[in-house]
Amino acid sequence: MKFNTKTIHGGQENIDPAYGSVMPPIYQTTTYSQSTPGGHKGFEYSRSGNPTRSALEKSLASLENGKFGLGFGSGLAAIDAVMKLFKPGDEIISTNDLYGGSYRLFTSIFENMGIKFNFIAMNEAGNIEKYINDNTKMLWIETPTNPMMNIIDIEAVSKLSQTYNLLLAVDNTFATPYLQQPLDLGADIVMHSATKYLGGHSDVVLGGLVVKDEELAEKLHFIQKASGAICGPQDSFLVLRGIKTLHLRMQRHCENGEAVARFLRSHPRVGKVYWPGFEDHPNHDIAKKQMKGFGGMISFSTTEDTLKSATNLIEKLKVFTLAESLGGVESLAGHPATMTHASIPKEDRAKTGVVDSLIRLSVGIEDEEDLINDLKQALE
Ligand SMILES: *Cc1c(COP(=O)(O)O)cnc(C)c1O
Repeated sequence: MKFNTKTIHGGQENIDPAYGSVMPPIYQTTTYSQSTPGGHKGFEYSRSGNPTRSALEKSLASLENGKFGLGFGSGLAAIDAVMKLFKPGDEIISTNDLYGGSYRLFTSIFENMGIKFNFIAMNEAGNIEKYINDNTKMLWIETPTNPMMNIIDIEAVSKLSQTYNLLLAVDNTFATPYLQQPLDLGADIVMHSATKYLGGHSDVVLGGLVVKDEELAEKLHFIQKASGAICGPQDSFLVLRGIKTLHLRMQRHCENGEAVARFLRSHPRVGKVYWPGFEDHPNHDIAKKQMKGFGGMISFSTTEDTLKSATNLIEKLKVFTLAESLGGVESLAGHPATMTHASIPKEDRAKTGVVDSLIRLSVGIEDEEDLINDLKQALE
């Protein structure tokens, strides 16, 4: 099955044996009757398994070319489950311009539990090796990174993780499996905030993991069941519905993203524009190699590099909504320094390029002219 077909049918064979409904029923139930003790039909209690969640988990596994999918109550709950694979003394190497919430989870929760994190620049795979020691257990990467749109060479990093026998986890939220499939490039775990592009309509918070290895899947299933941060059947249904148009939406996100990126770059009031599709983006060749398109996420600064210039601009936008989050059909504008990345200290932020005037756009699937005209009037 090819990708576009998978968004609709992947893992959805015989989804409703009772009536043949083409969408999975929303099994709003906690428990399942048994004919004799232990005599159930595959589901016993909805924390350990629910048919609607299971349909979503199979869809996620199919999209990422994995074998096992796991659904969680949010993207962070999914990351939290991965971190519970480790014990005090273990070390994890991660990117230095990580999603703010992941950074907060790592430093405010798991560091207290004795896990050590190294946040480093990973766009040069050669830079990683010197941080690996006997305690290192996992490389956690995001690509494109948020909000600086750096690209990490997944294949190169996976060679390193294999050499040192480490797990490689990729947060694939920004790219989605439509643009990039990390398991095929050697990753062990793919993580999603399905809240973003997979759900795609800004109406549900949900997270997912996909793996290929059975032993790893068993450990994660155990954590999912034992810690209990599962997603509910209604939310699973909504994400499944979103996934059915993922390929169409992503195609338009990419087209609009390119138009907006090129417009911004040509505008005299715009400073730097970060978008991996630019031929002179430092990691453009890797992006071209591992991604099918460049997506709809763009960050830019203003020439007058002040907090005020950024807030003035954002407040004038009419089609773009000022809001956190990304990946929905509607265009959003965010201000990383005060919103998504406020939990990262200013000095650390500045080091990675998250200056006060930086604006992040999640370019939606509206008409390109309307988006460009909106930015134009706000800039002028
Ligand atoms: C939003 C996001 C998360 C966290 O997901 P939630 O669903 O909000 O918990 C993790 N990583 C990235 C890249 C994100 O954008």
